[in-house]
Amino acid sequence: MSNDGPLLIIISSPSGAGKTTLTTRLRERVANLRFSVSHTTRRARPSEQDGREYHFVSRETFERLIQLDEFLEYAEVHGNLYGTSRREVETAKDARGLIFDIDHQGARQIKSVYPEAVSVFILPPSMSVLEQRLRGRASEDEATVQRRFAAAKLEIGHYGQFDYLLVNDDLEDATVRLVSIFRAEECRRQRMARPAEGLLAEGRAPGRTP
Ligand code: ADP
Ligand code: 5GP
Repeated sequence: MSNDGPLLIIISSPSGAGKTTLTTRLRERVANLRFSVSHTTRRARPSEQDGREYHFVSRETFERLIQLDEFLEYAEVHGNLYGTSRREVETAKDARGLIFDIDHQGARQIKSVYPEAVSVFILPPSMSVLEQRLRGRASEDEATVQRRFAAAKLEIGHYGQFDYLLVNDDLEDATVRLVSIFRAEECRRQRMARPAEGLLAEGRAPGRTP
């Protein structure tokens, strides 16, 4: 474990549980957080911009990037390919934190490369609320909503691999819990070893009384 570089935080959930909403709120409240922009073969939603939410690419381009070993991890989710490019981590060295919004397969792969990464799984308060939120987003057709709702149960079955579980009931309260997780993780001894060692070195400097 190292205290160098950004704190890597993985945020996963069944589709519609609120990870985009909570991630946005976390970034509003903690300065200098970077969002890892994944590549995907799915079509952009009307509110999405290429390069902001995702790099939207064709399946051919995605497969070429796999061949070039550009991805730290990738997976097929809901019939589309999604992947985190190595570049996302390499260019985030000066950030305080780097957020990955990825599924359980990606979370497992990132953890195997960076065991110090912190993973948070967002849960809806109930399955009926999840269904309402999926419909409320109104950016997908009914078949997509149904497919994602059916996939949600399978996704929730993977909760055991995550470090933290966060029920997204009241939005403000869930946001405060997510910020608290981030802040507490920043205080881990392993991440704070460098400042502690700095104080000890200062104490040993010539001219200092012991
Ligand atoms: P995800 O990124 O996990 O697919 P979104 O963040 O897009 O989910 O949220 C799905 C929908 O639920 C959105 O319309 C969002 O505004 C709404 N939503 C998210 N969190 C809450 C909450 N705590 N209470 C009520 N609605 C919420
Ligand atoms: P959406 O299409 O709703 O944006 O995302 C669908 C699912 O793909 C979500 O569970 C999201 O976390 C996941 N996802 C997004 N980007 C990546 C990625 O780079 N890798 C993996 N493994 N999953 C991703």
